[in-house]
Amino acid sequence: MRVTAYAAPAAGQPLALTTIERRDVGPNDVLIEIQYAGICHSDIHTVNGDWGPQPFPVVPGHEIVGVVAEVGSAATKHRVGDRVGVGCMVNSCGECANCRNGDEQYCLQGMVGTYAGTDRDGSTTQGGYSTHVVVDADYVLSVPAGLDPAAAAPLLCAGITTYSPLRHWGAGPGKQVAVVGLGGLGHMGVKLAHAMGAEVTVLSQSLKKQEDGLRLGATHYSATSDPDTFTQLAGRFDLIVNTVSAPIDVDAYLSLLAVGGTLVNVGAPAEPLSLNVMSLIGGRRSYAGSMIGGIAQTQEMLDFCAEHGIGAEVEVISADRINDAYARVLASDVRYRFVIDTATLG
Ligand code: NAP
Ligand code: ZN
Repeated sequence: MRVTAYAAPAAGQPLALTTIERRDVGPNDVLIEIQYAGICHSDIHTVNGDWGPQPFPVVPGHEIVGVVAEVGSAATKHRVGDRVGVGCMVNSCGECANCRNGDEQYCLQGMVGTYAGTDRDGSTTQGGYSTHVVVDADYVLSVPAGLDPAAAAPLLCAGITTYSPLRHWGAGPGKQVAVVGLGGLGHMGVKLAHAMGAEVTVLSQSLKKQEDGLRLGATHYSATSDPDTFTQLAGRFDLIVNTVSAPIDVDAYLSLLAVGGTLVNVGAPAEPLSLNVMSLIGGRRSYAGSMIGGIAQTQEMLDFCAEHGIGAEVEVISADRINDAYARVLASDVRYRFVIDTATLG
């Protein structure tokens, strides 16, 4: 079927309205009528070529919420009319040790990204800035009824990308957690870490968003542009989740970790980062990375959000404002996730 979509025609070019082909619904597939698609900074990195060449035209979008319009003959998990979500991956081998462990995002054959990926049939995947998508039912999540669909869309990437490391490194009561960067991922990190019972600090470039940070669940808020922040908070944190889309001074942030603490990068800037190993050695510290989360953990996160009444803070936009939204995200002027109302793609 041919569907309407917004695509980047080439690296760094503005997105424009187009039509794309979606495959027929196979036995294990689900056809989703998309309602909302979040704008992730990864969409912008991809379109701008930060992460290398891409199979243009690219339809970005991996924070998808919609309603099931058709199910394949062998797909039993979802029914027509169900509210569902799709995140950053739409397939994986399903057989390697990592897939069997529920870590499909680390599939040894390579997970299939929701856009600009090569699907297992050889076709190039196209994402959620579109009216419909066909996805293997195993990669389709159930969106709990209690969640507002627009506010739920960003959970599919920003939510799981912060939830997974918070769980992995044991964020909870008695733990000091810092979140660096209060954007799409960062604001979810604050909400989730707070709901898990940790004491949360926001480390933002300025104090401009302090009121918001405290409202979202942080107890403390400091500006990283103030050098005193790094002396006052030295040795404080058990876990720091860095969501910044640009390079940071890794050593400066490592100095904020308690003995045995971990700085985990989820922010994925184009440039390599470097550090002085003494920053690790001098406190048995770890520097780590983490990529989204597995399918089962994504469902767990959605259920956790429903239970705790957590959604993203969103600014819903029409499709013709996508390019403006990109510029605002790049200027750190997002509060805190743009979400496209795909009904405006007509
Ligand atoms: P975003 O909404 O743009 O948020 C990033 C925040 O980082 C900004 O709001 C800003 O916060 C801070 N920041 C931006 N530029 C900065 C600079 N030059 N110096 C210091 N701070 C800066 O982006 P996002 O959608 O949350 O994504 C963040 C990063 O995570 C991107 O690199 C994205 O590709 C990556 N990502 C990774 C995964 C994964 O699986 N690991 C998944 C999704 C996204 P303040 O204004 O508060 O300082
Ligand atoms: Zn994303």
